[in-house]
Amino acid sequence: MLEESHSDPDLLALRAQLKEELLPDLKKWLRDGSIPRRLFTTLGRKGLLGVTFDGEQPGLAPCSQRARILEESARLSAGVAIAILAHVDLGFTGLQLFGDPILQQTYGPGAARGETLLCLGNTENHAGSDAAAISLNAQRQGGDWRLNGTKAYVTNGAIADFAVITALTDPEASRNQRLSMFWVDLNQPGVTRRKLNKSVWQPSDLTRLTFDDVRVPAAHLMGVRGRGLQQVLTIFTHSRVPISALTLGSAAGALELALERMRRRKIFGRPLADFQAKAFEAAVHYAHLQAARAVVREACQAVEDQNDFRPQASVAKYLAVDCARKIGTWTADLFGAASVMRDHPAHRFPLDAWASSLGEGTQDIQKLIIARHILKAE
Ligand SMILES: Cc1cc2nc3c(=O)[nH]c(=O)nc-3n(C[C@H](O)[C@H](O)[C@H](O)COP(=O)(O)OP(=O)(O)OC[C@H]3O[C@@H](n4cnc5c(N)ncnc54)[C@H](O)[C@@H]3O)c2cc1C
Repeated sequence: MLEESHSDPDLLALRAQLKEELLPDLKKWLRDGSIPRRLFTTLGRKGLLGVTFDGEQPGLAPCSQRARILEESARLSAGVAIAILAHVDLGFTGLQLFGDPILQQTYGPGAARGETLLCLGNTENHAGSDAAAISLNAQRQGGDWRLNGTKAYVTNGAIADFAVITALTDPEASRNQRLSMFWVDLNQPGVTRRKLNKSVWQPSDLTRLTFDDVRVPAAHLMGVRGRGLQQVLTIFTHSRVPISALTLGSAAGALELALERMRRRKIFGRPLADFQAKAFEAAVHYAHLQAARAVVREACQAVEDQNDFRPQASVAKYLAVDCARKIGTWTADLFGAASVMRDHPAHRFPLDAWASSLGEGTQDIQKLIIARHILKAE
């Protein structure tokens, strides 16, 4: 065990529950390249999605609870964890923050139970970090909106029922007032889903969603017309702490595997762990992992205290990704050639760290946010 978990019964119980739900079928999901919908309903029923529902009012569980679920599930599979995150921290958070009471009452309970699956589509081929540059457009037609265009990379796009979609509604307006946000039914005519052949975050899906004259009722406009950019960036800021926890979980899973390897693998007649150069590397990775975990917890605390958590969220994401990249590659190295095989247990770690570096803002975007914060005038 890598941290204080053996003295925390709640954490041990969560770890055991997630192992029970994920491990028996994980190999099959990896082979199929997809996560069955029933996993979400099972997790929802057992309170493992990070969503609360008292039968009346669905809501997000506290940040620290969601972070723990994501960290622990990512130890087993960052791909499964990101599918949970896309549902809860992108789709459901969007609904909670910007859906009106009717949208929330209609779709919130099903989403909280894991029966109605969600995703968020923002990135387009020519607009990722520069979210204001999107071109999928929404035009008023009678009382409705019509959506035309493509979202390039959508996690859960293959399996979701509804998507939070950003669209260009006011092309003549300034960059900050051109976009709006919509709640879009993906099971309707005009929506095409094309699953992409990715290598990271298996077995989650990454899907291209194309909208061809797709009708969206006026009541499905989320938040305020013209505030879509600010709204989507707010959702990404919120999900930055959960994705940091997910990324740490992946790094912790890698380090655990590496330590086991170091104890077992004999080389030149003695275990790898006996080579001080390697043992010191392990110690440094462990120290960095613990430091990153402390920062992620601090960011969670800032969210729960309702403080301005934006800079801490970016620091947490930056450090977690940095840590996961280094530990992931180092772990794969410890397994030598064997780790280049797709089904080797160490194979996923460098790839999943790479994926984490992209979601919810690249490392450069985190630096931009941190730099703006530390350089702003007193
Ligand atoms: C596995 C996976 C799942 C994803 N899931 C989703 C999803 O569910 N929904 C969704 O909407 N999107 C999703 N994305 C897309 C993701 O959010 C984008 O990839 C990310 O925002 C980066 O955008 P981009 O790929 O267009 O890269 P670009 O924005 O083109 O960036 C290219 C390079 O330029 C750098 N850069 C950009 N801006 C600056 C700057 N101002 N200063 C310095 N350097 C800069 C970047 O750091 C990067 O190195 C997913 C991506 C992946 C890989």
